Amino acid sequence: MGTRGGALKLFDAHCHLQDPRIYHVAPQLIKTTLSSGVRRFAVNGVSEKDWHIVKEMADTYPSVIPCFGLHPWYVEDRSADWFKSMKGFFETTPSAAVGEIGLDKGSHGREIDFQSQIEVFEQQLKLAKEIEKPASVHCVRAFGDVLQAMQSIGPFPAGVILHSFQGSAEVVPGFAKLGAYFSFSGYIMSLKTQKAKKMLKAVPTDRILLESDAPDALPQGNLSSLLCVPGDASVPDELWKRGQDLDSIAIPPSNDSIAATDTSVLSKETLNHPANMHIVLSYVASMLEISEEELAEISYRNAVRIFSYPGSKINRES
Ligand SMILES: [Zn+2]
Repeated sequence: MGTRGGALKLFDAHCHLQDPRIYHVAPQLIKTTLSSGVRRFAVNGVSEKDWHIVKEMADTYPSVIPCFGLHPWYVEDRSADWFKSMKGFFETTPSAAVGEIGLDKGSHGREIDFQSQIEVFEQQLKLAKEIEKPASVHCVRAFGDVLQAMQSIGPFPAGVILHSFQGSAEVVPGFAKLGAYFSFSGYIMSLKTQKAKKMLKAVPTDRILLESDAPDALPQGNLSSLLCVPGDASVPDELWKRGQDLDSIAIPPSNDSIAATDTSVLSKETLNHPANMHIVLSYVASMLEISEEELAEISYRNAVRIFSYPGSKINRES
């Protein structure tokens, strides 16, 4: 593992290491991934239930950058005090950024009242602008709506991260103008090659980021170096219900990953390992027709820039 990808320096601009599906192996995932060359993880909370876990992980691991946000899928579960509680987290955690927030009109997002999604998204986007922090944005089949909200609230000098970006080349300039960065995960490998190439080449070089989005966004195809986290289908629901007890889960020994060679044979519960960022790096570099070394350097530099807001762990070191 130590020499994986030549240990190029990478920055995971968006992931969910607090996710109940992988939380039990998070210490080992972090260790393995750090030794693969990934230096930082922007860990994004998704609901009031996991903000305290994100904060705790950030307090424990210097490599973890905490992000607090209410994800569109959890909008209807929010409490009356959610916004006040969220602001409290930002007050006590100066190193935090905003995320994951966004709009979703996909198969799951369609089940969630869109007016509420917009309301919650705009409220958080305004907060990000006000506290001068970057915001990690989830956008599924709602580019027009996200752009509209960003136009009415922006521009965003602290940056907005369009995470797991899979939009078209045509939408890139409008977002870039408002301060958006474009972050790529394993999902980009499911786009048609020509579409991916055209879009990637439309993104300004100083706005490219890479992410694992682990435990989701497992890179696709026949990949000899793919790492997977064996899924434990019995864990998630129960953990969500127990909420506060998450940190009492025992941490198993070092079996955090299995090697897989063909994603088509993997079960639905197979989860993405953050060290697979090297596969995303290699794919995006090939689409852009530049070397992995060059893309690693560009994306790392961009990530350091956007995550260097006042109070940031990165800012403190430089
Ligand atoms: Zn995410």
